[in-house]
Amino acid sequence: MPTTGRFAPSPSGPLHFGSLVAALASYCQARAQRGRWLLRIEDVDTPRVVSGADQQILRDLEAFGFTWDGPVLYQSDQFEQYRCYLEKLFERGACYACECSRRILREQGARSGPLGQIYPGNCRRKNLPPAGHSIRLNTATANTVGFVDQVYGAFELNLPESVGDFVLRRADDIFAYHLAVVVDDELQGINEVVRGADLLENTCLHIFLQQKLGFSSPRYMHIPLVNNAQGVKLSKQTGANPIDHRQASRQLVAALRHLGQSPAAELQHESPERVLGWAINHWDSVSIPALQAASAETFGG
Ligand code: GLU
Repeated sequence: MPTTGRFAPSPSGPLHFGSLVAALASYCQARAQRGRWLLRIEDVDTPRVVSGADQQILRDLEAFGFTWDGPVLYQSDQFEQYRCYLEKLFERGACYACECSRRILREQGARSGPLGQIYPGNCRRKNLPPAGHSIRLNTATANTVGFVDQVYGAFELNLPESVGDFVLRRADDIFAYHLAVVVDDELQGINEVVRGADLLENTCLHIFLQQKLGFSSPRYMHIPLVNNAQGVKLSKQTGANPIDHRQASRQLVAALRHLGQSPAAELQHESPERVLGWAINHWDSVSIPALQAASAETFGG
């Protein structure tokens, strides 16, 4: 089957160097296999959407020479799909409504794992109505879920012990990223997911959810995060600088180096399209380092 990859930014602000690295890695991985590369705007968490950020992201990608296949998919157009798959999980008894607030769980002494509070399953047997409650996936039977990442190797997580029953739809009716990403990857025919290493643990949740929904799992490749000078992951929350269109090729060359590729320094004086062309022709995913040297040029902020 031909490769279909995707880039899936959240429109909570403009792209920064870390998101450029994720876009570039997923682009090269798909295009080097002569595959398709789709663009999805992950605006499922509508209160966090910054107005106009989606258009800015499209302009950024264009200025950096990226071309995507087909129309851009917006998660805000997918709510009916998410509702339908949530309904299926309900029918199969795989999820349930929950009335516990974070505060109550804290007061009960709920432990924390790599993804935050571990939900102990208090409401599993309460049969609460879905309306006005959060909906959680029952992980009691999950045990250890693992996969072989193309950069990080074998990775596994014991879901009931380390994560607990995770939320698929919040009490305020907002669908969780986990449900949205699994449904969208399936419906868009994505068979190779390339994204930041901060989502390694999340992938175990996604694989369990794919199993519950009868979807096949894509191949996964997580890429090393870009940290700022303080060693903290570049993100909109930590005030990373938006990518600067005037230095597109220079930033693409730096992003390629972050990914363990070896572009010649002269390439930064070429057009972004030529840098991307070089990157696809010379793409070597085996050289992507699991740990990135602190000295990488990050255009941080
Ligand atoms: N929307 C997520 C982000 O911007 C990416 C999720 C994914 O690639 O699966 O961090």
